[in-house]
Amino acid sequence: MSHPITVTITGAGGQIGYALLFRIASGAMFGDTPVRLQLLEIPQGVKAAEGTALELQDSAFPLLAGVEVYDDAARAFDGANVALLVGARPRTAGMERGDLLEANGGIFGPQGKAINDHAADDVRVLVVGNPANTNALIAAAHAPDVPADRFTAMTRLDHNRALAQLSIALDTPVGGIRDVAIWGNHSATQYPDLAHATAAGDPVTGLLENRFEGADGAREWLVETFIPRVANRGAEIIEVRGASSAASAASAAVDHMRDWTAGTQAGWTSAGVVSDGSYGVPEGLVCSFPVESFDGAWHIVQGVERDAFAAARIEASVAELAEEREAVRALGLI
Ligand code: NDP
Repeated sequence: MSHPITVTITGAGGQIGYALLFRIASGAMFGDTPVRLQLLEIPQGVKAAEGTALELQDSAFPLLAGVEVYDDAARAFDGANVALLVGARPRTAGMERGDLLEANGGIFGPQGKAINDHAADDVRVLVVGNPANTNALIAAAHAPDVPADRFTAMTRLDHNRALAQLSIALDTPVGGIRDVAIWGNHSATQYPDLAHATAAGDPVTGLLENRFEGADGAREWLVETFIPRVANRGAEIIEVRGASSAASAASAAVDHMRDWTAGTQAGWTSAGVVSDGSYGVPEGLVCSFPVESFDGAWHIVQGVERDAFAAARIEASVAELAEEREAVRALGLI
């Protein structure tokens, strides 16, 4: 059997952690490679994480090489090949954006430094905790010895939500849909893009025109229904379920890491990656792009055409990311 992958999960005692850890231990993230899980929690979350660790033992996963719980980042990230940063400070009533960014800076700055100082040389980082893009930016800024392209933010759940809504609208299987993309920030300003998507090989634009009786009907569905539904799905889940989405977020994290390590097979997916200036997105911002994974790295898909509507929506989302970067700079967090 191969050497275990060491995976550190922060906020491991929370809802997403509870859905995520069992999938990792079952082999869903790294195939038949054994995993060692290192769970990080704040002191008040340690008991919950310890309880989850006991349940992980009781599941007798053949691939689970060990599980430890820590409240100290240096120990939790020691030797990590993969770091899943789930724990974050949620926005509470009356909290200003600056307060939120500052509270998260206090979490993601030290975690970036701990990754820099203690993780394995090949560490790959996925930030799930919100505001995910800017939290990833803060963590990367505190890890000067780790190549910037190892820090990513999760927009795979938005991507999967887009696939699902399209599949329902066209009554076509999710598995046959290719080349959907999420651009921008993991926030309500994100731009889910179907312009280049195909379903079972047919351009989705034409299929939508058939389904919604012409180009105007298709456009109306796209602008009035599809985009807001995907962008606001988190709020819809909270309203219906009475709690925020957890299992679908965990599932998206599994998809993101599996594709990052094993490669993408069927066209594009979406991930928040450090911009290299592609599509005019300022260098260094952690922005969602259409991406493919090969040779163990994410690659931004080049040459994707965007019409004026798409370009304006993406620009607005990128402007929000740039504002967040300015705000964390002003707070001295990067
Ligand atoms: P969840 O496990 O439900 O969520 C964790 C984070 O993931 C939140 O920031 C949440 O953002 C974010 N998130 C991203 N995508 C989604 C999505 N689609 N649906 C829901 N959340 C999403 O939160 P819990 O409160 O249950 O657990 C958080 C745990 O983190 C707690 O146990 C806490 O103790 C711990 N924590 C650990 C830290 C550490 O290890 N140093 C630091 C801070 C907290 P949003 O709030 O916007 O929904």
